[in-house]
Amino acid sequence: MPTSSNSALFQRLPSIDDLLRQPEVNELIEREGHAVVTESARVVLARLRQQIAVGCLDETALNLQLSGLSAAIEGELRQSVAYSLRPLINATGVILHTNLGRAPLACSALDHIRETGAAYSNLEFDLDSGARGKRDVHVERLLRQVLNLGVSAQISTIVVNNNAAAVLLALNSLAEGGEVIVSRGELVEIGGSFRIPDVMSKSQATLCEVGTTNRTRIADYERAITEHTRVLLRVHRSNFEITGFTEQPSLEELVALARRKNIPLMEDLGSGALWDLRQADITGEPGVLESLRVGVDVITYSGDKLLGGPQAGMISGRADLVARMRSNSLFRALRVDKLTYAALEATLLAYIRQDYDSVPVLRMMRSSKDDIARRAEALAARIKTTKLSLGLIDGNSVIGGGAAPSAVLPTRLIALTHADLSADTISARLREADPPIIARVEEGRVLLDLRTVFPEQDEVLARAVSSLN
Ligand SMILES: *Cc1c(COP(=O)(O)O)cnc(C)c1O
Repeated sequence: MPTSSNSALFQRLPSIDDLLRQPEVNELIEREGHAVVTESARVVLARLRQQIAVGCLDETALNLQLSGLSAAIEGELRQSVAYSLRPLINATGVILHTNLGRAPLACSALDHIRETGAAYSNLEFDLDSGARGKRDVHVERLLRQVLNLGVSAQISTIVVNNNAAAVLLALNSLAEGGEVIVSRGELVEIGGSFRIPDVMSKSQATLCEVGTTNRTRIADYERAITEHTRVLLRVHRSNFEITGFTEQPSLEELVALARRKNIPLMEDLGSGALWDLRQADITGEPGVLESLRVGVDVITYSGDKLLGGPQAGMISGRADLVARMRSNSLFRALRVDKLTYAALEATLLAYIRQDYDSVPVLRMMRSSKDDIARRAEALAARIKTTKLSLGLIDGNSVIGGGAAPSAVLPTRLIALTHADLSADTISARLREADPPIIARVEEGRVLLDLRTVFPEQDEVLARAVSSLN
């Protein structure tokens, strides 16, 4: 209940209508519209009422607040109409950072999204016949070219929302009510709660585990095959490695067994590289083409990992098996929209043109340590240091996103320390910059890796770091 002294304060508050008639507020309404300004004015007045009620505003403080009402409304309005999803600078050196949106898109992908998203398109329309068409055609044709598959190869591709959806759709289409054989060493959980046993049960298939965590032999698979077996599944371990006393059948052995028993072999590749990573000295990360060549029947992979495109789940494999997935009603629920097709199509075209540097994740993987070192030196030279100390040190960038977990890309890091501020405080200050800057903190230092920073962001980064002085 208001006391007599604060009821006098309450009476000083203007009504909403009075407030909206003030000239500065009126100007705001002209610029931003009546509805949002009214809402912000309500929020500001409610806040003042609350402060008076709890007794933390006296006469003088209230006068000050009342003289700055229009500025307070404008501030409130800025926040309420600001985007929640914002671009930022990734200086962590983790190329595929799931928390930071994985792959940034190629400019050609953004252009193609813009031109097809802003207009009607032939998404499901065959321009030759004038009849209804299929949305898959936009990507399938290009993927055949990227993979260098002849027209005669009986390989199809469909696209769903993400790789988790791809695994769900593939297993449900091929193994509903039956069994799927998986090695115990591959029952993985991958970033953001993708767990093979859970996806298996959601797809209405029964998981049949074989082998042990560190050793599984081809004979283990063979022994587990029954009349109920529908799929042999190989899962790429992605985010960890098992080393030491280990054994795993080769893909060739699995293909031979699958053919002999006439059971489809499916591989959840995860990252699904379409570019030969060995050219960047990255080994042990299986490529899509390699798996298809060896004879895997169905592979699933993400669009926004090493492929460098939009979030999507790709399923490539034997045409008859993919046809079963296409006719599954789940496919309708998991399908992607025109913006995803536009971005994927443009990204795949960059591969066909061998314009690899236009795909940001490929360019980042391919940048040499020398190039990064040169940029780091130039950037460091621009930063004023009085309280800030700054050094260049050797280090490693990581691919991330559950791809090539042990692959390291040599890089040159900018290491920051400050006379008065801890590394965590510096890193928090950098996050408050506009755009926010995300850095690594290691051993009491803040580390900036320019591998994942776009060269055109170097200037902004230098300014933000200088302002820490
Ligand atoms: C990343 C990954 C997934 C999940 O893919 P999303 O596109 O994030 O749904 C599944 N399996 C493997 C092996 C992966 O690496």
